[in-house]
Amino acid sequence: MKLAVVEGDGIGKEVIPATIEVLDSLGLDIEKIPVELGYGKWERTGSAITDEDISVMKSCDCVLFGAVTTPPDPNYKSVLLTIRKELDMYANIRPIHPLPPVKGIHERNDFNFIIVRENTEGLYSGIEDIGSDVSTTTRVITRKGSKRIADYACKLAKNRMNKLTIVHKSNVIKSDKLFLDVCRQAATDEGILYMDELVDSFAYKLISSPWNYDVIVTTNLFGDILSDMSGALVGGLGLLPSANIGDRYAFFEPVHGSAPDIAGRNIANPIAAILSLKMLLEWHGNIAEAAIVEEALDTALNMGVCTPDLGGRNTTSEVGNLIAKYISTRME
Ligand code: ATP
Repeated sequence: MKLAVVEGDGIGKEVIPATIEVLDSLGLDIEKIPVELGYGKWERTGSAITDEDISVMKSCDCVLFGAVTTPPDPNYKSVLLTIRKELDMYANIRPIHPLPPVKGIHERNDFNFIIVRENTEGLYSGIEDIGSDVSTTTRVITRKGSKRIADYACKLAKNRMNKLTIVHKSNVIKSDKLFLDVCRQAATDEGILYMDELVDSFAYKLISSPWNYDVIVTTNLFGDILSDMSGALVGGLGLLPSANIGDRYAFFEPVHGSAPDIAGRNIANPIAAILSLKMLLEWHGNIAEAAIVEEALDTALNMGVCTPDLGGRNTTSEVGNLIAKYISTRME
């Protein structure tokens, strides 16, 4: 496998090296290609991402990505939006389930749902007109974009509980009616049991009763917000992985951002990044290795190995190192 490795900014520079140590312990034949991207590069060179960076990522089988800082500067084009568009990775898959023994906000831990977020349009269209008195962002919903994400979600639902929740705000945001209609039709065609929910009341339902949901499909910004919110269900943002999937490229990254507030202290939780590696291995067909990573992670957590956000005392690199050591021993 040829793997592009992007550390990015902030805690990306800490969680990705810890994750690479875990990957290396598996002894797979992987060529790692480092790619420098992000705000740090922008400050240094005036460009956060170049055409060459995109070409290198396209030449690899997939990308492991840390996080990038996106400053509120109108001249700064989001690196993530650029990559998702250039590589046309339309499906953002965010599995949310507890990692015993970590506690979230509920005593119950019998939930396991997946947010399938449309990744290339909606309010992250990048079509903006920024003025001093009026600024606008165009929310784009297309039939093609809605259909492919609906099909992806239906395929997932078929392999799980045959149950789909479509989340939208079509009563107020009229562009969502197209998204809703296309998703309803796809679910009907595939014989999937579906319901639809307005995003505001759904946020309440999801955080109060996550065990009621399985596959959730929604538009770009709603998916972003609902998944960060869901971090509270599992014990923190440092635990949520994600995959960005297209027809040709795939890209794996933790849900969290660059966390400038804790960057540089070696205390960031690397679990979201390590679980993103697990998703990458599954996607690539390394099912046994993915299972070993999960087993090592569970063992570490059960032994109380964790960073301060989970009440532990370990550093980011220690968590990566101990998981890697467990895997090396297990592989002997
Ligand atoms: P960005 O602008 O890059 O999105 P942010 O700080 O706005 O950064 P996040 O990086 O997602 O957004 O961080 C939100 C909060 O969650 C911060 O307080 C951060 O410290 C915490 N956090 C995020 N990721 C982790 C992690 N891996 N380990 C521990 N805490 C984390």
